[in-house]
Amino acid sequence: MIPSNPQNNQSAPGRAPVWQHELRQAFTRPHELLAFLGLDPATPALRAASLRDFPLRVPRGFAARMRKGDPRDPLFLQVWPAPQEDETAPGYVIDAVGDLHRVRGAGLIHKYRGRVLLVATGACAVHCRYCFRRHFPYSEQLAARERWAPALAEIAADPGIEEVILSGGDPLSLSDDKLAELVGALDAIPQLKRLRIHTRQPVVLPERIDERLLAWLDTTRLQTVFVLHANHARELDASVAEALQPLRRRGIPLLNQAVLLRGVNDDVESLATLSERLFECGVLPYYLHLLDRVQGAAHFDLPEPRAQELMRMLSSRLPGYLVPKLVREIAGEPAKTWINWQDGISPQAD
Ligand SMILES: *Cc1c(COP(=O)(O)O)cnc(C)c1O
Ligand code: SF4
Repeated sequence: MIPSNPQNNQSAPGRAPVWQHELRQAFTRPHELLAFLGLDPATPALRAASLRDFPLRVPRGFAARMRKGDPRDPLFLQVWPAPQEDETAPGYVIDAVGDLHRVRGAGLIHKYRGRVLLVATGACAVHCRYCFRRHFPYSEQLAARERWAPALAEIAADPGIEEVILSGGDPLSLSDDKLAELVGALDAIPQLKRLRIHTRQPVVLPERIDERLLAWLDTTRLQTVFVLHANHARELDASVAEALQPLRRRGIPLLNQAVLLRGVNDDVESLATLSERLFECGVLPYYLHLLDRVQGAAHFDLPEPRAQELMRMLSSRLPGYLVPKLVREIAGEPAKTWINWQDGISPQAD
């Protein structure tokens, strides 16, 4: 049983927090993950891609939510380095969203008005195979602790910035000492109003929401919002729902972004169940992203008309507040681009 109540997540004073221990136990060897799931490594589809650039990484608690013996499991497919990763496909490139040209200073990406994204760390608790950051040169771009000073100075010098988005990688990979220091420095920048935290950790490593994290969240004057990342309802088990409770009690808005992924959630049943399960957990669907066309991830992509059709079916099934916005990130645009899906809706027949 995974301890998910913050009260149970406390390690003895001086000891590393439970989540860091969990992180060190994560699966990093393909054959160990297959053995845990009872999958046969001789199956052709289960040959692992070359892992040079982007190793396997799966927390044990997340692997425990996968169906044993099922190579089509929607959680497994998100983390398994399929052989297709080694294939190149035309139009699928290294820097799919143009971030490499947009980095303003140490770890700052300022693409959209009023908000700036701070790449706080390159590390993640899980390695999602479809991720556009799989090729991001973190060693050069991330705002390592000693390099926060220039990023903070740039934010402070721009009166137009009201919101800082901590992103990555996963910003919650940083220790709470470092996060407390960073957030303390952001608190002191007068024009800042909001702190947004883009993180997959409450989903893949619910132990991460512990007393130490809540301690610095309680001190910030900034209005805080979490944007989580779950793609399938089965990711959101009881341990996740429970881990989110202390955030909900604090009135922190919880939003979710998902990515539309072939074989994982590309049917209306999966998408509707995801929205409903998110709401049960106190989370509102925010974005459904079309895949960033990144090299090695083409096998997850879907044609845009299929995505639009899915949205039409979804919207006819769910209340409006459970229908996410379908978006694509297009390099150079002033915001994420909303993909219209309503043109195909025919007027009610009479
Ligand atoms: C997605 C993104 C944001 C946030 O966009 P919202 O539409 O406000 O959620 C900000 N900066 C960058 C670089 C982004 O990629
Ligand atoms: S946690 Fe987020 S940033 Fe990290 S690999 Fe997954 S999708 Fe990418």
